[in-house]
Amino acid sequence: MSLRIVVTVKYVPDATGDRHFADDLTVDRDDVDGLLSELDEYAVEQALQISENADDAEVTVLTIGPEDAKDALRKALSMGADKAIHVEDDDLHGTDAIGTSLVLAKAIEKAGYDLVISGMASTDGTMGVVPALVAERLGVPQVTLLSEVSVEDGTVKGRRDGDAASEQLEASLPAVVSVTDQSGEARYPSFKGIMAAKKKPVESWDLSDLDIEAEEVGLDGAFTKVETATERPARTAGTIVKDEGEGGKQLAEFLAGQKFI
Ligand SMILES: Cc1cc2nc3c(=O)[nH]c(=O)nc-3n(C[C@H](O)[C@H](O)[C@H](O)COP(=O)(O)OP(=O)(O)OC[C@H]3O[C@@H](n4cnc5c(N)ncnc54)[C@H](O)[C@@H]3O)c2cc1C
Repeated sequence: MSLRIVVTVKYVPDATGDRHFADDLTVDRDDVDGLLSELDEYAVEQALQISENADDAEVTVLTIGPEDAKDALRKALSMGADKAIHVEDDDLHGTDAIGTSLVLAKAIEKAGYDLVISGMASTDGTMGVVPALVAERLGVPQVTLLSEVSVEDGTVKGRRDGDAASEQLEASLPAVVSVTDQSGEARYPSFKGIMAAKKKPVESWDLSDLDIEAEEVGLDGAFTKVETATERPARTAGTIVKDEGEGGKQLAEFLAGQKFI
């Protein structure tokens, strides 16, 4: 029987762009370019490797996000995933981690799965809690923060590296795992992969497809609330010191003045 792998991938604002808060203190996602979260590229890579080593496997990538989040799905499809699911609904605006896990879990159940692979954290929210929340909602084991992962005979195995020791962990399928940025470099999409991705299926679901009420998600359903947000002050030009023999001394004085030394 085919091994059904679902990879959760997030479309995040480009960290190199200018990011702002909207009036309701949510991240302004319309005003900034986005991309597939780099940490989720590792999850896609591990899913592809597991699928390549399996007799029969199918990799589905799943995202919750605005219209542009399809770009993240296209990138994962061009890396080699087989199909994609995009959950989009205006009522998702303001959804927190708990709401996100509800939507992901319902979508994963609807898609059908044996193994869910997530990133260790998103590069924008960086909470690192969604995989554990999804596993709890699905009622299946979670093996998180793996640096190495493989599937054998209905069991997912992996290594989690801690400060003091490395643990070998395993869980019977179905299960949820998350992988770290040490799990192996993600492949670049090839030209052939980019062309093939254009023909791969992308399903679009909204909240009604998942039997989720609007009140369960969005800002109304959120357990967390952002009270205030302050934009980082604009960068100043800094001081340029021209070295006319005293440069080293001036540098040391500057560092001492800032209490760096
Ligand atoms: C349109 C939109 C508006 C939002 N507005 C708010 C808001 O106002 N306030 C708020 O608190 N949160 C909001 N969120 C949700 C927020 O951006 C996070 O998705 C959520 O809080 C989870 O936190 P995190 O990203 O830190 O997850 P982490 O726990 O760091 O993520 C770990 C892993 O979970 C998976 N994952 C996380 N999010 C998604 C996703 N969206 N799709 C697919 N996989 C995912 C990825 O594999 C990721 O690597 C919004 C999300 C969207 C899409």
